Amino acid sequence: MSLTMADRDGWIWCDGELVPWRSANMHVLTHALHYGSAVFEGERVYEGRVFRLAAHSARLINSARLLDYDLPWTREQIDEATRAVVKANALASGYVRPIAWRGSEVMGVSAIGTTVHLAIAPWAQEGRLSVQPKPGGIKVTMAGYRRPSPEVAPGGAKAAGLYIICGIEKDRALNAGFDDALMLDWQGRLAESTGANVFLTMGGRLVTPKVENFLDGITRRAVIGMARKRGWTVEERAVMPCELDDAAEIFLCGTAAEIVPVGAIDTHRYQVGPMSGTLMADYAELVRQPDCEGFGESGHFAQPASAKAA
Ligand code: PMP
Repeated sequence: MSLTMADRDGWIWCDGELVPWRSANMHVLTHALHYGSAVFEGERVYEGRVFRLAAHSARLINSARLLDYDLPWTREQIDEATRAVVKANALASGYVRPIAWRGSEVMGVSAIGTTVHLAIAPWAQEGRLSVQPKPGGIKVTMAGYRRPSPEVAPGGAKAAGLYIICGIEKDRALNAGFDDALMLDWQGRLAESTGANVFLTMGGRLVTPKVENFLDGITRRAVIGMARKRGWTVEERAVMPCELDDAAEIFLCGTAAEIVPVGAIDTHRYQVGPMSGTLMADYAELVRQPDCEGFGESGHFAQPASAKAA
C-alpha cells in the first residue's frame, strides 16, 4: 500500500482547526507557491513528545519575521496546536511539518494584501527524512551552489525559497551516487549540507562552522550542549575546505537526520569514530527525556533588525 503525501488518513491542523488529511489543500494562485514566501519547520516526535518544540515554534516565527511578516499565532499557541495534532494522529514517533505561507488574495510579487496561513502536519516516518546512516558512513560530495551572503538572502530563515539550491544539490548528489552534498558559503567557508549542519573532530575537539547566514540548527545546538556536558572543547569558527584533510571524524546533524557519520567527502575518507558514536548515544537519550519539549540550549535565534528594534 503506497500512499502519496496527499492521500493519507489522519488530521492536519490548518489555521486553527483539525481538518481531515485529504482536505488540507490550497489554491494554485497562492503567493508562496509562486514567490517562495513560505517558512517551515521540521520536528520529530519521540515517545509522543516533540523534541525542542518551543525552539522550533520560536524559529518558525523568527523565519517569518526575517521575511518581513508576522504569524497570527503566538509561540505558545503553535506549541499547543502541535501537541493537539500529534495527539489527534495518535503518534508516538514520527515527523512534524509546520508550514506558514502567504495566501491567494492577490497575485504579484508584493504579498501585501495576502493573509498568512499556518498548517501543521505530523506523520509516522519510517527511516529518516533527509539522510540515512550507513555502515562505514555516508558518502558526501561538495556542492556547486553556495549559501548566499546576508546581502543576497535572509539565510537564517527556514524559508521555502532558500531550499531551491538545496533541492538541486541533493538531487545531483543522489544521481551521482552520493548521499548528500556539502555547501560552502559565499566566502568559500564550509557552511552546511542540503538539510543538516556539519561537525568535524580534530585532535579530540569538536569543530563546527560558526552560523553566518545559514540555518542555526536546533540539533547543532543540542550537539554542542551534549559535547560541553562531557567536558569536550567545541569550536564554532570559520572552517575552510582545506581543513577537511585534518578531520578524523565528520558527522551531519539535523532534526530529520539526527546524527549521521560521514565516511567520505569526495576523495577524503573518515572513520566512523568514537566521538560520533558517543554523541549518537547521548542524543538518543536526550530526545527521550520527559522535559525535551522546551528550548533546551536553543533559547534565541538571530532576530531581523526590525524585530530587535521593536
Ligand atoms: N541546515 C539545513 C539546510 C536544514 O534543512 C536543516 C534541517 N532543518 C538543518 C541545517 C538542521 O537544523 P535542525 O537541527 O534545526 O533540524
